[in-house]
Parts: sequence; structure tokens; C-alpha cells
Amino acid sequence: MAIYNSLVKNFNNELSKYNRNPCVVFDIDGTILVDGNYAPSSNDDIVTDVYEFLLYLQTRGISIFIITARPDSQANRQGTMNMLDDLRIDYKYLYMWDRSSIGNHTTFKELARKDILDNNYNIVMSLGDNEWDYGKHGGLGVHIHNDGEYITYH
Ligand SMILES: [Mg+2]
Repeated sequence: MAIYNSLVKNFNNELSKYNRNPCVVFDIDGTILVDGNYAPSSNDDIVTDVYEFLLYLQTRGISIFIITARPDSQANRQGTMNMLDDLRIDYKYLYMWDRSSIGNHTTFKELARKDILDNNYNIVMSLGDNEWDYGKHGGLGVHIHNDGEYITYH
């Protein structure tokens, strides 16, 4: 709950800096889901504070984008979309890593954030369990450590 409260407070502080089309970017593995779960089989597989924060953003009408380094394939995309639907996550777009066109995950994630920007959204915050999940174009970076044990801002 302390993490959830911190996320809400910091998000609202950041939001005041943007005057149009705010959005927030989430990674999946190690961020919304405890690392190593393709889809959650119980609440233990969900990073609760991060997930609750995402639901909070949805109630505020804030746009959500998902950027995951899960490999892009038709089956993998469908499986990941089903998982997100089951969690009632309502996202604008799901970016998945097409390894045949982009060589590394850092470039993939940065290009995805750039694409969001090019579509006239402002990224207020980016959440992930690796340093490539935030940074350029990403707004306030939130590093999720140890499947939600603690967070740091960047
Ligand atoms: Mg991750």
C-alpha cells in the first residue's frame, strides 16, 4: 500500500506538468506480473501495488500503453492480449519486440516510447523492472525492484 500511495502522489505531481494527452507506460514481466509468469494463476503472481495503480489510472481516464520485450508473434500477441483482458487492463496499444527488425531491447523500448510521442501522447511516467524500461521520452521513471518489494524513481 505504501508503494501504491507513493505512485499516486508522484503521478499527480508529474501530471501537473503536462496539459494534453497524458499517458503512462507499463512493462509486463517483473512489473505488473511477478517475473516468470506468462499469465497469473493467482493474486500471488501479480505485483499488487503496480496493478492497483494501473487500475487507478484507468478510473482517472489516463491512457495506458504496454511495452514488453516479449517476442512479437501472432500466438504470443494473442496470449498476452488475453492475459491483459483477463486483468481488465484497457490499453491503447501493446508494443511487443519484433527481434527481426530491432536488434536490442533498449532500442526497441526507446523506439516504442518515441512512437507514443509521435502519436501526440505525453508519457508522464514509465514503470519497469529494468533501466531500459524508462529514460528517453519516458517521463518519470519508476524502477520496480524484486517483484514490487520496493521502488526507486529516476
Ligand atoms: Mg520486465
